Amino acid sequence: MKYNEAIAAINTERALRLLDITLRVNGNYLYFSCVECGKESAIRFYGMKKNVAYCPFCKKGTNIIALAAKIKNIDFQEAKNFLIEKASGDEKPIEEPLNVSGDLEWCEFMATEDLNGELCQEMGVGKWKGKGIMAGHVAFAVHNEHAVKVAYYGVHIPDKKVKFPSNFNPELYLYNIHNINLHEEVWITKDMFNCLRIIQSGRQSVCNFGLPYLSVRQYQLLSNCDRVVFDWSGDKRDIAYTNIASLKTFYRFA
Ligand SMILES: [Zn+2]
Repeated sequence: MKYNEAIAAINTERALRLLDITLRVNGNYLYFSCVECGKESAIRFYGMKKNVAYCPFCKKGTNIIALAAKIKNIDFQEAKNFLIEKASGDEKPIEEPLNVSGDLEWCEFMATEDLNGELCQEMGVGKWKGKGIMAGHVAFAVHNEHAVKVAYYGVHIPDKKVKFPSNFNPELYLYNIHNINLHEEVWITKDMFNCLRIIQSGRQSVCNFGLPYLSVRQYQLLSNCDRVVFDWSGDKRDIAYTNIASLKTFYRFA
């Protein structure tokens, strides 16, 4: 595979997470600590020139492969292979149902998000009691389109940084798709809490787990719906002009 094809195949956000880099998403950029100076640097992960990182303090650019090489202490070719393998190996959805039932409780943070306790209980949403990676997070039970529970997705309180198990690739699911009547209007949002608020208001809603784009799989899942409403904050061009042609259904922006 050529260099350009190789980096194009790599999902930057996923790659950074696989490298255990803590990141913050903002628009088309991911912010994380520079591996050289520790200050905040950014990488573009969607659109043109993705996978190119820049640290304004070191005044140096790098890319996802060079980053992987540096962090793993391997050479460039090995880093490329590592990322390609990781990126392709994680394309599979989880098959086995998750048998863990989180002990979830209501918390003040959920009240400030205007959530309804009864709905949260019904949806399997609440502050995670106990240990593990969901500790300190509002956890959302995630089901695949066949209503099989596959994972918990966590939003940290109060900074809203997200957490999920490494075998869970959010690109392969849409939150709440299993509860959707495909012949009724469906609202899609990037915000998990907003998704719950839309449901509370009596409408149907799904969420793409906060990704700033929709994956191919997410478009496929949406294509099964007759009518889709995008409640899409931020840059609408990403979805309006890139993949939306593949959505062979009626859609509008809210
Ligand atoms: Zn730096």
